[in-house]
Amino acid sequence: MNETDYIWMDGNLVPWKDATIHVLTHSLHYGMGIFEGIRYYETEEGPAIFRLCDHTERFFFGARDAFLEIPFSKSEINEAIKEVVRINKLQSGYIRPLAYFGYGKMGLNPRGCPTNVSISTWPWGSYLGDDAVKVKTSRFKRIHPDSTHVEAKICGHYINSIFASVDVRDQGYHEALLMDHYGCVGEGPGENIFIITDGTLITPGPGSILRGITRRSIMTIAKDQGIPVEERRITLDDIHYSDESFFTGTAAEVTPIYSVDDRKIGKASPGPITQKLQKIFEDTIHGRNETYKDWLTVVI
Ligand code: PMP
Repeated sequence: MNETDYIWMDGNLVPWKDATIHVLTHSLHYGMGIFEGIRYYETEEGPAIFRLCDHTERFFFGARDAFLEIPFSKSEINEAIKEVVRINKLQSGYIRPLAYFGYGKMGLNPRGCPTNVSISTWPWGSYLGDDAVKVKTSRFKRIHPDSTHVEAKICGHYINSIFASVDVRDQGYHEALLMDHYGCVGEGPGENIFIITDGTLITPGPGSILRGITRRSIMTIAKDQGIPVEERRITLDDIHYSDESFFTGTAAEVTPIYSVDDRKIGKASPGPITQKLQKIFEDTIHGRNETYKDWLTVVI
């Protein structure tokens, strides 16, 4: 773990080593908490947070589903995030806001338990490496939408992602692909998936996936480039016969997929459309694209 100087905890900046909590913290036992993953990048004007307000919106949306009453406003959380970036003096990194039920009550009804909020940052390089990845479908299916609020970034959901990741990584693959409850393609453990077939960009629609902010950004960029975009169910065959495929996510950014279940995708990874989208995305996050400048919050 690459340590930084301070972590924001419930309104205070606490030295990294002192940012500890009680072992009877409710969320540690039952997984009812929510978190965000946000990146900031070096730009000519200073470190810039990518789509800060969209992440904060999703944080509060998830909190509502998870019965968490965040004792701060959205703008206070935005300011706290900026403060954490500023005080830790990194030019680029990853930010982890977390809201959780704290110490004070056990049992499965968390109402009445205090809500705690923390915001941490640390340097985090490329999540899946710089090359196209080998993907394997996992025997673990994506959580069923009738079992939980799948669109909230709830901590406990990530046991599903961890099972899938470990399962395929132990078999030598870079990343897992989770099928949904219809047996169609869902998403990666921490990424959305896209395919390109005959020039159209296709991705599974909402229902069982997390509606990624990178996903939304790539769909906007593609539309602006005149690339047709479709949200629909896709099958494994659709992936196998596609021309290109890639993952998107805050951690993974845009990661080309080389193969799925040992079947190579298309002629080259990244393919030409993936490459084009990747380039525009890269320019955007580093403040080199005027069109999407309002996606960046520069911290000075
Ligand atoms: N799906 C899941 C399950 C995720 O955890 C993430 C990462 N937040 C994504 C998709 C991608 O979302 P985003 O682009 O907002 O990071």
